[in-house]
Amino acid sequence: MTIQTVGIIGAGQMGNGIAHVFATSGFDVRLNDISTEALQSAIERIEKNTARQVAKGQLSEFERDASLTRISTFSDLAELGGCDLIIEAATEEEPLKHRIFADLLPSLQPETILTSNTSSISITRLASRTDRPERFMGFHFMNPVPVMQLVELIRGIATSRETYETLRDTVDRLGKTAASAEDYPAFIVNRILIPMVNEAVYALYEGVGSVAAIDASMKQGANHPMGPLELGDFIGLDTCLAIMNVLYDGLADTKYRPCPLLVKYVEAGWLGRKTGRGFYDYRGNAPVPTR
Ligand code: NAD
Repeated sequence: MTIQTVGIIGAGQMGNGIAHVFATSGFDVRLNDISTEALQSAIERIEKNTARQVAKGQLSEFERDASLTRISTFSDLAELGGCDLIIEAATEEEPLKHRIFADLLPSLQPETILTSNTSSISITRLASRTDRPERFMGFHFMNPVPVMQLVELIRGIATSRETYETLRDTVDRLGKTAASAEDYPAFIVNRILIPMVNEAVYALYEGVGSVAAIDASMKQGANHPMGPLELGDFIGLDTCLAIMNVLYDGLADTKYRPCPLLVKYVEAGWLGRKTGRGFYDYRGNAPVPTR
């Protein structure tokens, strides 16, 4: 099966990046969100990011214009029914994802492949609640999507070989690299990455170091390009907490318990860059540690 029209549900940080790379790779993109504000700011961000690519000589002016005309936005989910491929990239909440698929199914053509960009939720469980578990897969892009090379491909227990091969070919057409992960909580990248972010929050909570000291230690002492707290803010602290909860529940091991300080930041609505405040305050000219 050849994919040409891609429907993306959720126009947040990940949805806009996914729309960007599909459009610049020649796919037609239908972007959906319940928030018209999110749709509008996604388009503005794609315009800005593609302009930056033109300035760097990575994209011609002509290719940029053509890419932008390939993206259309929709508040009504039913408008995505005719797509060849759906990528769900809405908030990391399992009941919400089930609801989105249930609402979408009546307008979906039978051959459409359904995928989720979930960071951690069981693909087998999401698939089992649809009418097409054999045409359902985890399609996990990394943040920021236009920059990061890897895409994790996660097969649920029922995913067919054809579905897997179609998505592997799609990753090739995006010029990205696919890695296969088994369908266990948080797959590969986040199984390793998010407990590290959570451990950094524990180090802060227990007073081992300040925000600045923890981030500087991991950047200069372990050669990480970003400190773990800065990274948590970048990913979104709500998403980090949701992933820790999936690891804790799914693997039944106390080593994955979310740090109470991470919970407190999320309760405060201090979710990181996307809300202007997390372990750093981003509202001024330069980020300032909040502890
Ligand atoms: P985000 O908060 O930036 O965006 C989520 C978007 O989903 C919002 O615009 C919201 O309005 C929209 N939404 C909520 N309910 C909806 C509905 N019923 N229908 C349509 N849209 C709806 O979150 P994000 O960081 O883009 O994460 C989205 C998904 O991608 C999550 O599953 C997350 O785990 C996954 N993911 C995130 C990262 C990351 O680094 N942030 C990386 C890889 C995967």
